[in-house]
Amino acid sequence: MAFEGLANKLQETLKKLRGSGKLSEKDVKEAMREVKMALLEADVNFKVVKDFIAKVTERAVGHEVMESLTPGQQVIKIVNDELTQLMGSTQSKIVFSPKPPTIIMMVGLQGAGKTTTCGKLALNLKKQGKNPLLVACDIYRPAAIKQLNVVANQVEVDFFTIGDKAKPVDICKAAVEHAVKSGNDVLIIDTAGRLHINEELMDELIEIKENIKPTEIMLVVDSMTGQDAVNVAESFNEKLGLDGIILTKLDGDTRGGSALSIKAVTGKPIKFAGMGEKMTDLEPFYPDRMASRILGMGDVLSLIEKAQASIDEKKARELEKKIRTQQFTFEDFLDQLQQMKNMGPLSQIVDMIPGMNASKLKGMEIDDKELIKVEAIINSMTKKERLDPSIINGSRRKRIAMGSGTTIQDVNRVIKNFEQTRKMMKQFADMEKGIKKGKKKL
Ligand code: GDP
Repeated sequence: MAFEGLANKLQETLKKLRGSGKLSEKDVKEAMREVKMALLEADVNFKVVKDFIAKVTERAVGHEVMESLTPGQQVIKIVNDELTQLMGSTQSKIVFSPKPPTIIMMVGLQGAGKTTTCGKLALNLKKQGKNPLLVACDIYRPAAIKQLNVVANQVEVDFFTIGDKAKPVDICKAAVEHAVKSGNDVLIIDTAGRLHINEELMDELIEIKENIKPTEIMLVVDSMTGQDAVNVAESFNEKLGLDGIILTKLDGDTRGGSALSIKAVTGKPIKFAGMGEKMTDLEPFYPDRMASRILGMGDVLSLIEKAQASIDEKKARELEKKIRTQQFTFEDFLDQLQQMKNMGPLSQIVDMIPGMNASKLKGMEIDDKELIKVEAIINSMTKKERLDPSIINGSRRKRIAMGSGTTIQDVNRVIKNFEQTRKMMKQFADMEKGIKKGKKKL
């Protein structure tokens, strides 16, 4: 999972504060030293870390007092606020031109995921009712045009090419004319990448920019490259001017430094995050949700949204209510397991559930194969047992193990993990209530 190291360290440090009734300035400073180390290890830009720590420390040892929160919770709230701020506070959306077509110029280095992201973005916009045209302007990389064509077919949107003999700027001009004629209200232009930034590339991009006046220039960068991604963003922004950034491969085990530094360094917001290789793996980037994911407060809202995309809305609302009111039973768990199969790999979903993260899961080993076992175990429980697991005594456990073709140890593990999860959900809900109350008082 992305941010795993950072998330673990921050959560460990902040957990020490959470229970404390009273915090001295020394406690806070000590914790901030650890937070600083964790951020630096996650490859966050040094200056960004310095400013971040200064801000949190100032607020935490200052006079911010909220009756409903313990001092420890207050520090966590402040860290959460400042992390959110660092990543841009609110979600930045694509700006559409008041006079169509909207032109989105996609730029970035080779291998960043530009072509794939063009397809993902087209699909995203199509779902919003737009009629996008994918334009192939990378005339240098062999197969780039073909790749975009394949992607366009995959997401079933229009595709434009005039081959690799024309100049990129002429392809763009022709594409705009074509879009106007054929009623495409958004153009997504896949420009050429290079292995490194060079003059030639920039000149070509500047020429396109000057001629077709894009509504949005969007940089696609690979989050796995850490501070390099930040440097690339800085250069592109200086030379070309950017409107937004799409950070790819956040599904990998990136340390997260780029996500936390890029907005602070360039001033330009991350608008989307690439979360996998499939065309549906593009998510709007929500700084607040990302911050709470890093702090292990889960990402209930993203989970709900993902659920809404793959499950019907009524069920998603029920899930939300159950998570929030801690009325989650084995019966719901089973139902959700079945639905989650439609939502993608479990590891992705689990990161979003409050109190669960990949490291906590290691002991649970819930991978997709394990899922089948868990399902069999729950299926072997009676309805009464599913609704009230506390009645599952030794002999019932034996029966369930026999019925599901598993061992008593397997059954014990599933019950224990389920109860732990429920407890964590409750802790989260309590904490969230505290934060909400605090906000009201402010
Ligand atoms: P381009 O050279 O910038 O056009 O890059 P491509 O679109 O060809 O992508 C390079 C590789 O990165 C491909 O194998 C993609 O499948 C992969 N990729 C792109 N975005 C993501 C992402 O968000 N997550 C993961 N895991 N892989 C991605």
